[in-house]
Amino acid sequence: MTLYADLHRHLGGALHPRIIYKFLQKNDHPILSYFPDYDGFLSWFTRPCRTLEEFVKIHSLVEELQSLEHLPYFCLRLCRGAYTFENLQYMEIRYNPYFRTDKDLSEEKRLGQMTDIVETITANLRPAEYPITVKQILCLDRRLPHKINDAILKVAKDNLGPVVGIDLAGPEIEPEKWEDWVNFLASARSSGLKTTAHLGETGIDNVHPQFFTVLDRIGHGIHIPLERPEMLKELAKKQITLEVCPTSYKQTGVLKDLTQLKVVFERCRQAGVAIAVCTDNPGRNPAPCTLPGEYERLIDNDVIDFTDLKSVQTEAFRSAFGYPGGARS
Ligand SMILES: [Zn+2]
Repeated sequence: MTLYADLHRHLGGALHPRIIYKFLQKNDHPILSYFPDYDGFLSWFTRPCRTLEEFVKIHSLVEELQSLEHLPYFCLRLCRGAYTFENLQYMEIRYNPYFRTDKDLSEEKRLGQMTDIVETITANLRPAEYPITVKQILCLDRRLPHKINDAILKVAKDNLGPVVGIDLAGPEIEPEKWEDWVNFLASARSSGLKTTAHLGETGIDNVHPQFFTVLDRIGHGIHIPLERPEMLKELAKKQITLEVCPTSYKQTGVLKDLTQLKVVFERCRQAGVAIAVCTDNPGRNPAPCTLPGEYERLIDNDVIDFTDLKSVQTEAFRSAFGYPGGARS
């Protein structure tokens, strides 16, 4: 059996829609008044969006469901599904701990509750019967104030081990703030965390070269080879891996079809920039929403050749932040 590694998967977008729907039913959630049957929910939940902002709105709904009380339920299903149906041996799951705190609490209390969130997730990502290794990446968010992002970084540092990295997430707004983010990422690195950032996903404006001095990987980054291929030389020099999530670009309206990724893979190969194929939000993709499915779609669309498959799989393990024996661990 071939085993796989997924390095870019959001906790809020990782779960099969059936699991979310059953959870809503169990909790008699008011949103069910719009979706009396599963099929209606499924087509709403997995429909392609015109923009990333639109996509993120549904994501926020799931984040709110994943409260402290319910995290063990979601974590168990996430791990066993990834191992059983996708043959994942290693997974890095990313999330924003602040978005899972209780909204009714004061901001100070919410910041304090982030520690409980991370500890609860850590305790529930080790299901005894499923031999999968799951590490965590905490997400800073471009929409949040400095103080909250600072607190997220601190929780990540305090939980180094189960938490292996920091990500910068949220829609690609306010490119002029690059220096703040570079400072956050540099601080993360200096305390032993690895770094990645959602960058160059929807456009090139946020891709400031200073990011390359503080990043181990880039979430997506596809607009670098598409629009500024001359930057690839620097990525290769710094050994920065791109996390490419094919179906996600169709769901968020970034690409019309996957053949557009051909040039991404070709230019990266020529420049010596590594690519790890990942899923991003597999629960939001139309079925089959699995990592092996993403590989298959790349072959179907002539983005990669079947003979490339082994090296693509190996790259994910090599670029992992916490894979035992991996080059970056
Ligand atoms: Zn993502």
